[in-house]
Amino acid sequence: MNQLYTCVTQQHDLRLVAVAALICGLGCYATFTIGRQVFRRQPWRERLAWALTGVIGTSSAIWATHFIAMLAYEPGMAIGFAVGQTAASLGMAAVLVGLGAGLVVMWPGLSGRLVGGAIIGLAISAMHYTGMGAYAVQGSLAWDAATVAWSIAVGAGFGSLAMGLAFHRRRAVRNLAPMVLMLAVCGTHFLGMSAVTIRFDPRVEIPGGSMDTTILSILTTNAVLLILGLSLAALHLWRLNRRRHEAESQRLRDLADIAVEGLMICDGNTICGINHSLERVLGRSSEDLLGGSLQRVLTDLSISDIPRHQEIDAVLHDAAGLPIPVRLIAQSIVIKAKPHTVVAVRDQRERLRAEVEMHRLAHHDALTGLANRRQFNEALSARFASRRSGDDTFALMLLDLDRFKTINDTLGHGMGDALLERVAQRLRRAIRSDDLVARLGGDEFAILKAGGIDLAEIQVLAERVLDLLGRPFLIDGHVLNIGTSIGIALAPSDGLTSGQLMGNADLALYGAKEDGRGRYRMFEESMNVRIQARRSLELDLRRAIARQEFTLVYQPQLCVRTGTYDGAEALIRWQHPERGLIPPAEFIPLAEETGLIGPLGEWVLRTVCTDALTWPRHLTVAVNLSPVQFRDARLAQTIRTILAETGLPGARLEVEITEGSLLQDEQKTLAILRELRTLGIRISMDDFGTGYSSLSYLRRFPFDKIKIDQSFVRQTPDDHDSAAIVRAITMLGASLGMKTTAEGVETDAQSRFVMDEGCDQLQGYLISRPIPLASVAALFSEAFPCVQTA
Ligand code: C2E
Ligand code: CA
Ligand code: CA
Repeated sequence: MNQLYTCVTQQHDLRLVAVAALICGLGCYATFTIGRQVFRRQPWRERLAWALTGVIGTSSAIWATHFIAMLAYEPGMAIGFAVGQTAASLGMAAVLVGLGAGLVVMWPGLSGRLVGGAIIGLAISAMHYTGMGAYAVQGSLAWDAATVAWSIAVGAGFGSLAMGLAFHRRRAVRNLAPMVLMLAVCGTHFLGMSAVTIRFDPRVEIPGGSMDTTILSILTTNAVLLILGLSLAALHLWRLNRRRHEAESQRLRDLADIAVEGLMICDGNTICGINHSLERVLGRSSEDLLGGSLQRVLTDLSISDIPRHQEIDAVLHDAAGLPIPVRLIAQSIVIKAKPHTVVAVRDQRERLRAEVEMHRLAHHDALTGLANRRQFNEALSARFASRRSGDDTFALMLLDLDRFKTINDTLGHGMGDALLERVAQRLRRAIRSDDLVARLGGDEFAILKAGGIDLAEIQVLAERVLDLLGRPFLIDGHVLNIGTSIGIALAPSDGLTSGQLMGNADLALYGAKEDGRGRYRMFEESMNVRIQARRSLELDLRRAIARQEFTLVYQPQLCVRTGTYDGAEALIRWQHPERGLIPPAEFIPLAEETGLIGPLGEWVLRTVCTDALTWPRHLTVAVNLSPVQFRDARLAQTIRTILAETGLPGARLEVEITEGSLLQDEQKTLAILRELRTLGIRISMDDFGTGYSSLSYLRRFPFDKIKIDQSFVRQTPDDHDSAAIVRAITMLGASLGMKTTAEGVETDAQSRFVMDEGCDQLQGYLISRPIPLASVAALFSEAFPCVQTA
């Protein structure tokens, strides 16, 4: 080492040494820049051309370094260079460098590179020592064999290392290769120079024809220019190439970045490209991911698992490790002569969210946010499907709000909706988290109660719901009282399928309503029988009008003052094809509930008006009107039309109403009654005395007639209370200017009593049972033989 140091610092012109090093560095840099072109994908001629350029450049660099360094060497005596050997040294370098480079190209893999690199290293020493053969001095050269060996080894070693590094995966390592080659060149040269000792001998003469330093300078200058030129050309090419490559990849990146889909380029399982879309999806920057393993974002698949022609579902992980559902499809591409895979990533979150939202919309009631009928049915079916053991029991509750329809009709749908929302809120409060509450539609709700059928627990829940919904609601300044009826069925005892269970809960609900609403009923088998009968009756009732199964009978009414008839009350009869005569008490409530009372009532009115035309002109006909008929604001108009169509004068028609008609919406009913009054129609208060506040009604509307309920008449004259009531009513009627009729008069005693008390009219079996039209008409024409009919 010491020897080498002394050699370089004391025997050389350091300025020229620096030039030699610079030339060497440039040459080495050019070597690899050009060498890289040989490995690019291009026609073999071009590759060969690049290879030759590289070999010439490299050998020239080695050669020029050597000779500039020789010029820097100052042995302190005359020197010269033999022309032939100087040229031979360059040739030697070129041949060996060519051989080494050839090996590197032809023998892929590390060993080829190491061996090829070693040969290039040997080219340096071969050149050096051939070059030294051209060195003529006025004296003799003595060589230190060990140092010579070292110089050869250093050249071969560093040459080998340089080639080994030149192909390294990482750029930073690759960039070391030119420097290592430079070490090989400089190391060989200066070790070689320190191995030599020159002894002055004045007898020795520089052979003629040797080049002096001037000529050598010119030659080396040319070589240097050649190397520089080549280096610059290589540099320029490299830059151009890099720019083109960068522009190309930028274009590709831009293209990829405007893609909505996420794109990822992989080299095996290593991520080597990623677009903006995917960066956004993953919440990670490309710097973070590039060069990393695919498994950092895709844990359960490797690149070969992703199919080429068909999308698959997969899960990526974002920066926080959260899963992102995606669909993946792969495509092979070649980038820089290497097969890569492009993976297209389609983010599924938005789609899945939309699906969830659609599912939510399809399964929830938009107004209240509760589960809707569909979800409820699904839950109920699922309950049955998952029910295996007999121990798995649950309860179904069906709710029907009691006075909702009236509120909706009178205060408007806005109020109805607000009320339903509030009902939903209270129901949510009533249930436990594992119970399901749903709005099945309208004012119907349902609760699927989980956790067995502990009767006490179910009753507690039912009571709680009744209590919560029974409390008043304060909405927009209105105090609304609704309440609810509840029907309860238990699975599996009350039903083995959803349909059965729902049906039976519905029957129980029906029972609760029949019992007077505002209460709950558990399903009982007997309900089934009763309800079935009712259902079939309802069906029959719907068909009965069309099939003309209804008839009217008339019960004559006797005027006490004249002792003869002054009219009759029409009473409906249903002749059922199988069940025979069905009394009105059985089917009128059903007709009222189902709304059939509307058309039925109209039929009665029309028939009555037609029938009465066959009677003597002064006789009236009385018709019973149901409270439900008064809910229809067009009732008066309907009657007016019927009178006009049949031609019966209004004065010959009487309508009988009960307290129920005034109970529901007094103002509306009174308005209708006043309108009927203008048509000349007379109005009777039927079944008087049975209600609670009957007396007050009499003051609110000037009825034409009060009909004393038959329950009192029947008890007279023996029962003192009934007798007192009958007396009070007749007196009241007289004082208010209203006529009184005693209904249900069956005996002479009753007849005498009511007449004595001042009743104006008698009606009952004693006078006549209700009889068909023909009979009543005959009865009337017999009583009034000279009076014409209408
Ligand atoms: P209502 O208006 O009080 O009719 C009188 C009821 O008493 C009739 O029963 C009649 O047959 C019965 N009756 C009359 N005299 C006697 C008697 O001396 N003894 C006994 N035990 N009963 C007597 P019906 O025909 O069965 O009608 C029952 C109820 O059905 C009626 O009571 C009325 O509220 C209703 N109804 C009958 N026809 C119609 C109709 O066309 N429309 C409406 N809305 N209701 C009707
Ligand atoms: Ca009546
Ligand atoms: Ca009556």
